[in-house]
Amino acid sequence: MKLLFERSRPGRGMEYLPPCDTPAADFAPDALRAAPPRLPELSEVDLDRHYTELARQTHGVNDGFYPLGSCTMKYNPRVNEALAALPGFAELHPLQPAGTAQGALEVLYRAEKLLCEITGMAGMTMQPAAGAHGEYTGLLLIRRYHQSRGDAARTKILVPDSAHGTNPASAAMAGFTVVAVPSNARGGVDLDALRAAAGPDTAGLMLTNPNTLGLFDPNILEITRIVHEAGGLCYYDGANLNAIMGHARPGDMGFDCVHLNLHKTFSTPHGGGGPGSGPVGCKAFLEQFLPAPRVRCADGAYRFFTPEHSLGRVRSFYGNFAVVVRALAYMLALGRQGIPEAAENAVLNANYLMHRLAGTYDMACCEAGCMHEFVMDLSRLKAETGVTAMDVAKRLLDFGIHPPTMYFPLIVHEALMAEPTETESRETLDAAADLFLQIWDEAHTDPEILHTAPHNTPIGRPDEVSAARRPVVRYAFES
Ligand SMILES: *Cc1c(COP(=O)(O)O)cnc(C)c1O
Repeated sequence: MKLLFERSRPGRGMEYLPPCDTPAADFAPDALRAAPPRLPELSEVDLDRHYTELARQTHGVNDGFYPLGSCTMKYNPRVNEALAALPGFAELHPLQPAGTAQGALEVLYRAEKLLCEITGMAGMTMQPAAGAHGEYTGLLLIRRYHQSRGDAARTKILVPDSAHGTNPASAAMAGFTVVAVPSNARGGVDLDALRAAAGPDTAGLMLTNPNTLGLFDPNILEITRIVHEAGGLCYYDGANLNAIMGHARPGDMGFDCVHLNLHKTFSTPHGGGGPGSGPVGCKAFLEQFLPAPRVRCADGAYRFFTPEHSLGRVRSFYGNFAVVVRALAYMLALGRQGIPEAAENAVLNANYLMHRLAGTYDMACCEAGCMHEFVMDLSRLKAETGVTAMDVAKRLLDFGIHPPTMYFPLIVHEALMAEPTETESRETLDAAADLFLQIWDEAHTDPEILHTAPHNTPIGRPDEVSAARRPVVRYAFES
């Protein structure tokens, strides 16, 4: 496919509208560029076709089933997009006085209140721009807490090995030493190992729940008790709240802080790098440390304020505000009844698909039932046929299905992690299950068709290492 610069022809343009008759503004010479920017010169139809072609070459939730585990690629109601695009929201200036942006402050305030109710927390910041950013913010809260008590010995964060990969990374980024806690045979946290690891140097625990095997840890109350008795705090990775929202609250399970991924559970289309939002909620004793500014309401007016011992800003302005608009719209539309129903259907759909495949594919720990996602272990298929999880994933592309998450979690070899989400119909799930079973047969009868898949996508098997390590993101001009 040709790039815009390759389609460019000197002098070609889109001068469809009459020339602007507004006098040019008078800028100071040092604010002006010396030479005009080098932009491609194109007609409107060329430009339109370029972007349409790009859209055709990608796969989104709007194209087909997208069971990417841990990512919650669910369909998001279009009305939330319309609301986020309302000029009163979309055209606000972040520096305009709070008195002229009361509606926007109300959105932040009401979203915070509802998300606190859903998580069982006292206060929340909307600043973090993504889940991992929220984790980092939450860990800074934990550090501030120990510092405020003069406890400098707590330098370690306990992270179960079934945690999302961002958990240990965030803990290391925040300056903690990461201590891995092994899982037991049922895929939960090994309590004896946790007891042995927790001590006077424990700053806290980061728990992904449901974990990356798609399991809710049945010992969750015991886990938070052990960590609290050792003097640590408990952090809940709530990126995948899709499975439990409206049914169980991290605050009630003993957690002191939590982040949510609004761009997964609360209706923002994501993928390809953004935009996201990873609000962090905490119990009342940590609120004084939350990032500033926060919003409060007094005498019918919304105002910004800075918590007493605020750790400062973690992002410019107020986070990705439009994502919060969508989340609030989603929560208000679903309401008290719809939110738990969405979680029930997410869990039902995952179990339905898992049970349709379980007689054929091996499941990692979740035969008895999963939450919103499940993990298949393709080690046996690989041993029998030489077909890998990668081959199966690539073959699905031939049929217009986005593959599940591959080779994650790391504690399962040849892993495929599938999350159908609540927005898929039974027909879609049945069609996907039939396809997985067909691919299993192909692996035994015609493995070559899997090794060489995909066969009908715009590109086949890219060199993934080079694509990740040496991406070409700049156009190489000849001069
Ligand atoms: C997606 C996810 C994250 C990271 O969220 P980002 O927005 O991608 O930074 C963290 N934890 C879990 C469990 C996740 O699923």
